[in-house]
Amino acid sequence: MTETKTAVVTGSSSGIGLGIADGLAAAGMNIVMNGIEAPEDVEQARKQLEADHGIKAIYSRANMMKPEGAEELISAAQEAFGRVDVLVNNAGIQFVSPVEDFPDDKWQAIINLNLSAAFYTTKAVVPGMKKQGWGRIINIASAHGLVASPFKSAYVAAKHGIVGFTKTIALETAEDGITVNAICPGYVWTPLVEKQIPDTAKARGLTEEQVKRDVLLAAQPTKQFATVEEMAALAVFLCTDGAKSITGTALPVDGGWTAH
Ligand code: NAD
Repeated sequence: MTETKTAVVTGSSSGIGLGIADGLAAAGMNIVMNGIEAPEDVEQARKQLEADHGIKAIYSRANMMKPEGAEELISAAQEAFGRVDVLVNNAGIQFVSPVEDFPDDKWQAIINLNLSAAFYTTKAVVPGMKKQGWGRIINIASAHGLVASPFKSAYVAAKHGIVGFTKTIALETAEDGITVNAICPGYVWTPLVEKQIPDTAKARGLTEEQVKRDVLLAAQPTKQFATVEEMAALAVFLCTDGAKSITGTALPVDGGWTAH
């Protein structure tokens, strides 16, 4: 394809999503940013992408917690660029609690954002990708899409769900030049991880330092947080022709966690 590609990255105003947006922009794609951080911070990040990589970036504040959010986001992409070539379903939240105390609204919010949002965005982009005969859908799952940890029932359920969804859509689009894969990060140092440390400390009766060392990195054999740049590198690779036969996979980037 000679035309400039357009990548839509949900939850790209922070953390892994912003890192992936930066990687795809560096690869020459126009970017549709999304997320709920302070608008002035997102605007700064948007301008930075354009300045650093000479591409065009727009921002949609569509709420991916709701089905209408997907339509709003994909319409914004179509309006600005007339196409969507790459969809990265990345927006996600976490909540940590024993199941008996797990608030119903937190369960629903996690299922809505971490799982259902990908259904709605995928449904919206697949017809265009089929028409183009080319597309890449990348779902940011988690090592928790492959194995479980206690106190994260909604998150683990949603992430296992998105791995199954990834395989299903890969099969449905396999003859259309579209690949669909899940990236399964271990612990990556981002605001999402930072925010869950106090709750995990409370749930397990530990200090925050003990949570980092003995809970989070206990399962990650490298004993190091992965980086957003590593997630971006894999996402960029999945968009190359070299990756065109990789579809329906769940690729761990987890420092050996799921080798246990
Ligand atoms: P983060 O908190 O830094 O970023 C989350 C992004 O989602 C932000 O841009 C935020 O604005 C956006 N978001 C939140 N609610 C939204 C809503 N209602 N509508 C639209 N956007 C919304 O988190 P992160 O660590 O970068 O996580 C990104 C993804 O990676 C998540 O799906 C997460 O489950 C997954 N993941 C993260 C880790 C990790 O260790 N950080 C590990 C495995 C998987």
